[in-house]
This record gives sequence, C-alpha cells and structure tokens, in this order.
Amino acid sequence: MANKGALSVDTEHLFPIIKKWLYSEKDIFIREVASNACDAITKHKRLVSLGEAQDDGTDYRITFKVDKDERTITVCDNGIGMDSTEVEKYINNIALSGAVEFISKYESESSGGIIGHFGLGFYSMFIVAEKVEMFTKSFKGGDGVHWVCDTNGNFESEPCQKDGHGTEIIMHVADDELSYLDNEKLKAILERYCAFMPYDIAVIEDGNEKVINDTNPLWQRNPADITDEEYNEFYKKVFNDYQDPLFKVHIVADYPLNFKGVLFVPRRKNGYDSAESEMRLFYNSVFVADNIKEACPAHLVNFKGVLDCPELPLNVSRSYLQNDAYIRKVASHISKKVADKLNSMFNLERDSLEKNWADMKPYFEYACMRDEKFGDKVRDVVLFEDADGKMVTVKEYLNGKDEGEIYYTTDKNSQSYYLELYKQQGKSVLVFDSIVDSNFAQYYESKNEKIKFRRIDSGFESAETDSKEKLTAIFKSVTAENTEISFTALGEDSAAALISLSEEARRFADMMKLYSMGDNGVNMPSGEAIAINTDNVIVKKLADMDEDDQNAKDIAKHIYLSAILLSRTLTAEEAKEFVRLNNKLL
Ligand code: ADP
Repeated sequence: MANKGALSVDTEHLFPIIKKWLYSEKDIFIREVASNACDAITKHKRLVSLGEAQDDGTDYRITFKVDKDERTITVCDNGIGMDSTEVEKYINNIALSGAVEFISKYESESSGGIIGHFGLGFYSMFIVAEKVEMFTKSFKGGDGVHWVCDTNGNFESEPCQKDGHGTEIIMHVADDELSYLDNEKLKAILERYCAFMPYDIAVIEDGNEKVINDTNPLWQRNPADITDEEYNEFYKKVFNDYQDPLFKVHIVADYPLNFKGVLFVPRRKNGYDSAESEMRLFYNSVFVADNIKEACPAHLVNFKGVLDCPELPLNVSRSYLQNDAYIRKVASHISKKVADKLNSMFNLERDSLEKNWADMKPYFEYACMRDEKFGDKVRDVVLFEDADGKMVTVKEYLNGKDEGEIYYTTDKNSQSYYLELYKQQGKSVLVFDSIVDSNFAQYYESKNEKIKFRRIDSGFESAETDSKEKLTAIFKSVTAENTEISFTALGEDSAAALISLSEEARRFADMMKLYSMGDNGVNMPSGEAIAINTDNVIVKKLADMDEDDQNAKDIAKHIYLSAILLSRTLTAEEAKEFVRLNNKLL
C-alpha cells in the first residue's frame, strides 16, 4: 500500500531556503549523509552487543557511488535501517521538524550567523538534489521501504524488497549542481569531512572500492600506545607538511570538560611572525570546521591541532563558536596542558627538548609574555643557549639563586671582542638570537626584581689609576660631547679602550628603532661611553705625555675610534678621521 503525502509545513519555502542558506558550505550534505550512515551502523552494533539484534557478522561499511549517466549519487550503509513506521516518524516528521525549526529561525533573523544546532541533516541533500530516493530495511526484518521525495516536499513511500538491513539513498542531482557528479570532487569532500569517521567509507569507481578514511584516528587512541613516528606521520598527513613537528601534546580530558585533542608546533623557516594557528574541530571524529581560532589559546601562535568535542553540537556555526564560553574553557585547558607538557619534557626528556628548542623558543617566549598564567608555569623552563652551545635556564645560569646579573650577546660576530673578554674571565654569556629574546629578558626582569640582564657591551668593572684626571682630560677633548669616561682593567693584551652602552639607553634606542621612531628628528642620546683599559701599554704611555701635546690627542682619538670600531660601524666622518690618524701616527 503506497503512502503519499506532502510535508505539512509550507515546504515550497523549505528547500529553496535550505539551498540558499547553505550556499557557502554546500559540501556539508555529504558529511550529513555519511554521519547518518555511521550513526545507523553504531546503533546496529550496539543492539548486537546488547543481544537485541542478531549478530549476522555484518562487515560494516558505507559506500558512495556516482553515476554520471543517471545523474545520481548513491550512498549505502548496512546499519540499523528503518521500517515504514520509523520512516514516517524520523524522516517525515522529526528530520523535517529540524529543518522547519531552522527555517522559522532563519526567517526571523535576517543576518547570517544563526546556524546554531538544527538537525538539518537529512534534508540537506536537497542542497544538490532535485529528488531523493531511499530504500531502507530494518534489522528487524520484514519489508523494506521505498521512499521518494521531491524539492516541493511531496513524498511517496511503498513497501519494497531489499537484501539485508540498512539504507540506500539515491540523490538525483539537480541541473545546476552537476559538478557534484565527479569522483574526484566527491573524494575530496569525503577526505575533508569524513577522513576519520569510525567505519570504512569507500568510493566505488569502475567497480573498485577505495576506502578514504582512517577509522581509528590518532586522537581517539591511548597516548601510551602511540609512537613518535605515528604522531609525526599524522601531523604531516593532516596538515600537509613535509617536515616533522617540533613539539606535540596529546590531551585527553574527561572531566569537567570532555574532549580530546592533539596539538603540534610546526617547524618553520621564516621566523614566527606570520605564523597562524590552525585548529580543526571534530565531533566524535566527524569533521565540523577548521580555522576555529577561538579553540586555540591566542598566545599559542603557530600551533596546529585537531580537537574533538563531543559536547558541542555537530551543526555548529563559526559565530556560535566564537562566542561560546565552552570553547574558551577548552582553550584555557589546552594552554594548561601545553605548559604541563613543556615542563614534563624539561624534567624527563631534556635531550629531545633541547634538540628542537631553538626553533620552538620564540613561540614559548611569546606565549609567556602574552598570557600571565602560562608565563607563570613556563618561564622558568625557558632555555637559552650560551656562547659555548650549552643550554641553561635563567635559574640554572644563576646557580639556583633568585638574584644576579645575566650576560648576553645579541650578535656573536659584531660583539666578538667583548665575548672573548667574558670568556677569558670565565663568564658564561647567553646568545640572544631574536628580538623576542630581548623582550623576554625584560619580561623576566619584571617578574624577578633582583635579576638583571646585561648585554656584554653594557659596562665593565671599574679600576683605579693615578692618572685618572689627566687621561680624562685628554679623552674629553677627543670624544663626542657628553661621552662618559671610565676606567677598567682588561689585561695588557686587550684593547686600549672599549665602548660601553648603557643597558637602559640601548634598550630604549632599540625600541625606538623597532617602532621606527629613531629617525623622526628625535635626537637620541647615543649612550656610548668609553672604558679605558688601565692595563694597556699605550694607555700607560699616554699617561706620561703632556695633556696639551697634539700627539697625545691624536693617540687618544685613535684609541677612541678603534674602540668604536669594535662596537659598531664607523660613520663616514669617523672613518675619514680614522684613516687620517692612521697615516699620521704610523
Ligand atoms: P539527526 O541525524 O540529527 O537526528 P537527520 O535529519 O540527519 O537528523 O536524521 C533524522 C533521523 O532519520 C535520524 O535520527 C535517524 O533516525 C534517521 N536516519 C537518517 N538516516 C538514516 C540511515 N542512513 N539509517 C537509519 N536511519 C536514518
């Protein structure tokens, strides 16, 4: 006996709106159909395990097949199936009511971003289909049901013969959507949305079946059973990278939040500033959306990951997620877990941490500065490499003390003379290789008042000499105005003088440079002071000369310019003067 009807609401309305609304994400009808098929299989499996359905050894699977001549896409599953009462209840009424509820909301809210959670699944097929046909048979046996529905919402159903339980859905593709009758396109969509669904999903092409999914995605597995190689392979495949990640963390949260996730820090070549985070959101292994920025804590730049949140609705919109307190809680839990993982690597896997640390460091330093809580957990395990290639934390540098000076260089080449001096004195010097290091040092000082970072050219221990006044007078007459003159003992083989830069003035100048304010007519104090080496032979000789002697002045000027040469490039004026003095003195 055939059952005819029309979906009760104003359905001429329904399908055009479904189509229009979903225009930008049309492809999701594939996901909806596939996830209904997965659900149907899960239900059957469950009934079998409860002894309520007969265990018929079903090889559970879902197939997709495109027929270009017939203009159809056919989807088959061997799940629970439906009898005629269930078709009436779940398809004609419930599935429809989800769609109707959606429409009523859609019509009352004119703007986009209303998607929320509507069970739009089944009817989403009308995004591309002008007619949907279904053959379904319940696991309970009996007749199958053949159901047909057109875009006006008119449906017909009648009993039919069907082998085995499950559902076959035939989408008759509309004239303007024929591009969907393409195996490559179908596979691409399946790979995007269904790559990790829990049962085999195959595309039938020329009689061959090709399974497109991984039914046991890494994040659903027990971290203890997963090897590093498996994490690396997963990362490379999912995020399309050819290099292994630098860092990974697998999060399995069950209370109070229930979600799973795996996050990675990719290796990058060109600095960190263009590094966007990328988070793919899943719902029980079904792809929901990517680029869900809100799910990744804002301070964790350049992180990539997958996140499975079975507590969120599947049909969730981007704007919903952007304002969702739940997602923010997930993000803050992620931040905590990343900090924990780094600490545990520091304590238990220091070698492997050190191996990749140089590339990871800027991201973690940045994260410390951006997020108070993260910083409190992480800043003391941030490692720096010293000039001999040894990695130490600030605390280790200071031998566990909470106070002291930490020496650093920002450029091993241009500061090599200073570096050599520090080495001779047996002092360890940290190598700062990015502006982030300098910022981090400042941040670290702000958290530890008694710890000071000082670049190696920022001053020397002072030394006494009997000729202080005379030497000061000579050098005053040849150095730039207001240049501070000090004395230090650097050994007789060392340079006669070195330039030192006040740490504060230099940091200020660096900052101005960074914001390119340096050249805007603001005349900045150079901060260059000169430290005269009292051990040096020429300096000793100079002390014996008359302070008005032109030769003494020339020698002092030569010493001054030589000192500048060890600290920075000479200006054109200074270079000219330097050559003139060389000619004269030699
Ligand atoms: P939802 O899946 O959110 O419940 P749908 O509109 O996607 O909403 O589907 C409505 C209902 O139709 C499902 O809950 C299920 O009972 C039934 N259904 C849909 N597809 C299948 C299928 N392939 N096999 C068995 N039942 C199905």
